[in-house]
Amino acid sequence: MDSSKSNDSTNSGLQDSNPDASDEDKTELCPGFKDADAFVKYGLGAVLLATKASAGLPQAGDEYDFYRSFPGFQEFCESQGDKLLHCMSQIMQHHGCRSHMRDRNKLTGLEERFDLVVDSNDVILERAGILLDEADGVNRSQQPVMPAGFQPPKIVVSSWNRKGSGSGSRSETFRLLHAKNIARPQLKFKEKVDNSNTPFIPKIFIKPNAIKPLPSYFTNKQIRKERPEDLDVPAALADLIHQQRTQTHVEDMFAHPYQYELDHLTIPESLLSKPEPQMYKPIAETKFSFVDTLEDLVALNEKLCRLSEFAVDLEHHSYRSFLGLTCLMQISTREEDFIIDTLELRCEMYILNEAFTDPAIVKVFHGADSDIEWLQRDFGLYVVNLFDTHQASRALNLARHSLDHLLKHFCNVDSDKRYQLADWRIRPLPDEMVQYARTDTHYLLYIYDCVRAQLLDFNHGQPGLLQSVWNKSKDISLKKYVKPIYTEESYLELQRKQKKSFNTQQLTAFRLLFAWRDKLARQEDESTGYVLPTHMMSKISEELPKEPQGIIACCSPVPPLVRQQVNELHLLVQQAREMPLLKAEIAAQKNKGLTPIKKPEVTLFGPHDTSRASESDLPHFSPDALPVKQGILFSEDEHKMDVDVQKTGGLMAPAKITLFEELETKNDQESLSVAHMKARRIIESFENPFRMYLPSTDVHINKNAKFDPSSKIFEISKRWKLQSIEEQQKEFEAKRKAKEEAKERVKKAAEERNKAKQSYQESLQNVATVRQQAAESAKGGGKKRERVASEVGESTPKPSKKLMKSAENPQKTEPASQDSFTPFDYSQSDLKVFADMKSKDDTQFDPNRQAHDFKKKKFAKGQKSNFGTGNRSMSYLAGKSDRGFRHNWPRR
Ligand code: AMP
Ligand code: MN
Ligand code: ZN
Repeated sequence: MDSSKSNDSTNSGLQDSNPDASDEDKTELCPGFKDADAFVKYGLGAVLLATKASAGLPQAGDEYDFYRSFPGFQEFCESQGDKLLHCMSQIMQHHGCRSHMRDRNKLTGLEERFDLVVDSNDVILERAGILLDEADGVNRSQQPVMPAGFQPPKIVVSSWNRKGSGSGSRSETFRLLHAKNIARPQLKFKEKVDNSNTPFIPKIFIKPNAIKPLPSYFTNKQIRKERPEDLDVPAALADLIHQQRTQTHVEDMFAHPYQYELDHLTIPESLLSKPEPQMYKPIAETKFSFVDTLEDLVALNEKLCRLSEFAVDLEHHSYRSFLGLTCLMQISTREEDFIIDTLELRCEMYILNEAFTDPAIVKVFHGADSDIEWLQRDFGLYVVNLFDTHQASRALNLARHSLDHLLKHFCNVDSDKRYQLADWRIRPLPDEMVQYARTDTHYLLYIYDCVRAQLLDFNHGQPGLLQSVWNKSKDISLKKYVKPIYTEESYLELQRKQKKSFNTQQLTAFRLLFAWRDKLARQEDESTGYVLPTHMMSKISEELPKEPQGIIACCSPVPPLVRQQVNELHLLVQQAREMPLLKAEIAAQKNKGLTPIKKPEVTLFGPHDTSRASESDLPHFSPDALPVKQGILFSEDEHKMDVDVQKTGGLMAPAKITLFEELETKNDQESLSVAHMKARRIIESFENPFRMYLPSTDVHINKNAKFDPSSKIFEISKRWKLQSIEEQQKEFEAKRKAKEEAKERVKKAAEERNKAKQSYQESLQNVATVRQQAAESAKGGGKKRERVASEVGESTPKPSKKLMKSAENPQKTEPASQDSFTPFDYSQSDLKVFADMKSKDDTQFDPNRQAHDFKKKKFAKGQKSNFGTGNRSMSYLAGKSDRGFRHNWPRR
């Protein structure tokens, strides 16, 4: 594949059979082959011959041993073997794989050699896959793939089919710059990444340049400190408790911290009048600093605070992380270029808010849509007074709106976009990547001048057009980061994009695999595309392999986590195979019809959580839906609650209701005699002898029996399903299970409740003082600046630690520690509240746990794309990458 690619750019066609095909893509593929078909035909023939020949070799065992006794045969074997190994080594080397196939000293045995071959095959086939995708035009905007052990040549050319209409002076190829075995930067983060399936809450805790003080939620350490993750209760319950504690803060929690300031931002006259473009300094004469210490960062902040404008850009990595990582921040002033190692200074970046939110300082970005979100997500940074040159380019109706184009148009600079998809986690940063990154901001202030001047000229000196660009830019800075949220319906969105019509079994497999992949990706902090690329997921669902080996066969190369958990996946596929066969549309309808619970996740996070739902999708409880009692956890009047619950308890069983059903049960139990309790248990055991064989939320089902077609149970279970009562059973089962588990949990929950109550009271006492603090910090921007500076300046580690401490408190809270990471329970349904999250079982993904169907949710525009997360397997897959990438990329 590589050869086809390089030929493509070197254009070394010999006998072009198609003279009309001026396009490079159509030239002769490689010498002697007029097109890919001819090459493939030849290749297949050769492979066939080789296979035949190898089959004709003496069989291992007696036959071989016999031949081997002839020295001539022995010699021949040795020389041929050497030749083959040499050939293989060369191919492997060519692909940058470990290749000491022939070096006997380094090898301990056949097994290791075999592993080498397998690894290399993976790498080569993966490459082939990527290139084929690119040939289809499918994959050009994807991120690099780096399977473990993959040591590619330093530069890998990609996107050869993406011929821009640009300069033409250089070959417009991209290069994926990989590094071998990059240490995961996440491991050094002081604050662990929060991949929980909960909405994003701003990280901000100090608000420089505030007109309206930061809400107490963010400044009150007490409240922020006690995050759901820290509670020693099941995740869903912890969230519930947390919600109660923070109820009064819900609105604040999801609001844009600088909404007020941005709403009241007016662009001064001076910025609406025609500027004299100030020429950029040649890069070679420009001072460059790589910022990777807190002192340097503070100094940079000081510098920026004295300016009236500076340019900013970010570089990002998304393949080996669930949410994505901002790896670099480039800043250019009129005099200097800076690159900040944001992996190193991730927790300290917030200090830049002082410059970034200063309305008197213009921040120039190109195509800031994603940057704004990444800044919030990773650093709690906000931008007040943004100018987006991408918006300016649009307003000017330029031919194209990429930074590339602007660079060419205004600066006559041919930018080198080959590194755009480089792995920006690489450290130390190679020089060529530094150069590339610098160009992204170096010319931006000059371009800012030029476009402003043109916008005014364009409009005959009237500021209207320029003003509209300022407004659009402001809208962008008002964007809020939205975390990708998993719902029971997420898979449908992605499945629809596959353009394959699935039957019920296939759809079930897709759903289960999707859930597995999402859970694992969050847990391991990998992208879903790394865990299991969508096209592989789709293939497995389509084929429903009977054997684990079949699953492996659907994946080439086999993603590490798939290999590791193939048995788990096998069980999921088996489970899907048990579904009665229906056409997909019917199945979809069925799903909808049986949806028992309404948008529980919305209610879980409070009515003000608009982060995942459109306006129209906010909870609207129809008469037969369950009322959700807010604040129920703190209600003194438990009796009254029980009554409420009883009224509605028969309808369905979402979390809150079950909770109090359990309280009731507990009370009941206290008054029961031992005999009564025994009797009750016996009665319960009669409930439904087959329940354990029904699709249910019960984690303890006997899978073997269930999957054994010879067993009676199997038959019965199938029949039950065919009667399509599984859903009702599920519900029934869920309730029963919740009851059981709650018994063990109720005590704990009560304790927690008291604790929560207590700390809530305490936190209330704190509010006033924190408000004062916030007001104080809001008062004096300059003062605070000094404070930050001096604190940090005193000496390096100590004061910074102090500084950090305040930063860490809210931060610490967000993520659970690596080992104790328990991803949020997806179903968020009632039984989950009591599902024993601490049980050993829980580390094993059990799809049965999410058997609830929720009513189809509509999503706000901005939200929508989050459901495409599955669609962003960078290397393999079709379609645009989605997560974090939901904007049309301003082409560079
Ligand atoms: P840029 O603003 O062009 O420097 O891009 C910033 C980051 O966005 C890069 O580091 C990439 O991670 C990502 N990115 C840019 N363009 C694309 C694209 N076409 N496809 C996927 N990711 C992209
Ligand atoms: Mn950018
Ligand atoms: Zn950039």
